[in-house]
Formats: sequence, structure tokens, C-alpha cells
Amino acid sequence: MKKQEIVLTGDRPTGPLHIGHYVGSLLNRVSLQDIYKQYVMIADVQALTDNSANPAKVRENVMEVALDYLAVGIDPAKTTIFIQSMIPEIAEITMFYLNLVTVNRLLRNPTVKTEIQQKGFGESVPAGFLMYPVSQAADITIFKGTIIPVGEDQLPVIEQTNEIIRSFNRTYQTDVFPEAKALIPKVSRLVGLDGQAKMSKSLNNAIFLGDDEDTLKKRIMSMYTDPGHLHVSDPGKVEGNVVFVYLDAFDTDTAKVAELKAHYQKGGLGDVVLKKYLFEVLNAMLTPIRIRRMQLAQDRGEMMRMLLAGTEKAREASSQTMQEVKKALMLNY
Ligand code: ATP
Ligand code: MG
Repeated sequence: MKKQEIVLTGDRPTGPLHIGHYVGSLLNRVSLQDIYKQYVMIADVQALTDNSANPAKVRENVMEVALDYLAVGIDPAKTTIFIQSMIPEIAEITMFYLNLVTVNRLLRNPTVKTEIQQKGFGESVPAGFLMYPVSQAADITIFKGTIIPVGEDQLPVIEQTNEIIRSFNRTYQTDVFPEAKALIPKVSRLVGLDGQAKMSKSLNNAIFLGDDEDTLKKRIMSMYTDPGHLHVSDPGKVEGNVVFVYLDAFDTDTAKVAELKAHYQKGGLGDVVLKKYLFEVLNAMLTPIRIRRMQLAQDRGEMMRMLLAGTEKAREASSQTMQEVKKALMLNY
């Protein structure tokens, strides 16, 4: 018997998913689908907030993201996978919420602030981008989501969602919406190959779940290690060394990782040998995902039918909530 909690998450189809998504939320979703009712959204509308001139990119990546979901084990028989733009109630409820949030509050949202900088919007921040936390509150609440498995970068957005929920319930004297809780995994912000920001589709610093062996090898060989580690015999730094960050995140043989760290710090362990070991670890993890992904990609028609069926199911829930919302807003003519 599934419990009352409802799990809601999603990803923007701005590119295929990477190993940051894998530890950041995909693994959680695979286990949560056996315990709770779960919705997973492909956020095409949100992808357009910073890709408005590039609809083809968003459209193509809807399928890529769906392939990644099924390849890692998100099961459409257990999880409702749907396309955001096909749920008009999300856009509708966003309009109502916009009256409950100030522009200053949005400008102060730390996630929004960081992303405005990263994306180089300068003074020209699209209004649609600025208000994306409001549309995220809409995504969560229209399904009455209570458990939100996300990476750490999304915490301020969940906080803002709860402010909107409290404001809505208070203003309209209702208890339509339960509060939402973020579920943050152990590895809550995986760094990118460059060792700088978090791994991200749009920062060109990712290892994708569907990368073939050669691409995986090239990406690993290009990785940032310790710039002071010039000769094999030199002692090397483990802190901030991306190879070790990834080994900590993905290698289940912790004794081996501890041994490698000690060897690297002492000197005598070269970057190439170390990177070859990381390749073995990641390739073993990604091979079954890659194979499953290739099999699924053979029948894109079937994948699209699965998405449309999920979307239809999601709409039953969203139109039910919308009726309650309209009643609270006295718009139930
Ligand atoms: P974009 O570059 O398009 O913003 P992204 O890689 O940041 O893409 P999103 O689709 O914005 O991915 O994020 C989807 C979910 O994956 C969010 O819950 C986010 O916290 C999580 N996530 C993304 N990147 C990482 C990462 N490097 N480590 C942990 N979690 C991550
Ligand atoms: Mg992002």
C-alpha cells in the first residue's frame, strides 16, 4: 500500500541528463516510486525561460530526458511521467500565485541570483526567468507534492514554494495545499569536470548518462586534478581534486578509495593511472544504463505514447486541484 505523501520532481529538457542528476535526484526517484505516489515532470516550459529562441533544442531533449529516466529505472508503471506544457493548470495557477510574491523577493532568491549571473543575462533578465520559482511552486502544488527530491541548489526554491503555500492558505482561508519538504541526497551538489561550478547541462562540464565509452574516456582524461602534481613522484592534493570527488560519489569500494588517496598524497601515483581507475568505475556503472538507453531509443513512437499516457493521468490530478483552487478564489462560476 502506497502512503499518502506525493513525490513531485522534474528536469528541464535543455540537454540529456548527467551523473550529477543521477546522484542528485534520479537514484532517489527510483527508490521512492516503490513507496509513494510519484510524478516526474519534463519541464519544457521552464526550459524555454532561458531558451526562448531555441524551441527545437527543447523539443529534442524532451525525448533525451525521457530515455534517461527509463534507462536508470524510473518505471512508467509506478511513476507518472508527464510533459509540463500539456498541463494548462500549471500556467493558470502561476498567474494566481504571481499576486502573492513580490518582485524584490524573487530578485533576492539565491538560486535565481546565481543563475542570472551564470547565464550572463546582465540587465536583460527575462520576466519569465525571474518568476521561475513561482512556476515551480505551481508544478509542486498542482499535484499537492509533499516530498521533493532535489539537489541542494534548489533549496531556496522549495522555501519560496512554502511561502507561497502559506500565503495562499492564509489569504483565501483554506487548507488546499500541504507544505513541501525537499529531500536532499548524500551527494547534494556534484561539481563539474572543470572543478568549478556544479555539473550542469548548460556549463559544458558534464558526463552524460548516455556518453559512449570513448567520450567518457576523453572527458575523464580532460579532468581537473591537482595543478601542483607535475611528476608522478610528487605528493598530490586530494581536497578539491575532481577525480577523488567522483570516486567518493560513485565508487562503492571505499577501502580502495582510501588506499588511493593515501598513495596520491604520499606521491608515486600518477594522474593517468588514477583516471583510468575512475574510468573503470564509471564505465561499469554507466554500461547497463547506456545499453538500456540504446534499446529504448529504437522505438521513439512507443516512448512518446508512454509520455502522453502519463500526461493524461497527471491531468486528472491537476484538474481536480484546480477546482479546489477556483473555489478558494471564488472563481468557480
Ligand atoms: P541547466 O543547465 O539546464 O540548468 P541542470 O544540469 O542544472 O541544467 P536542472 O534540470 O536545472 O539541471 O536540474 C534538475 C534537478 O537536478 C534539480 O533537482 C537539481 O538540483 C538536480 N541537479 C542538477 N545538477 C546537479 C548536480 N551537479 N548535483 C546534484 N544535483 C543536481
Ligand atoms: Mg539548472
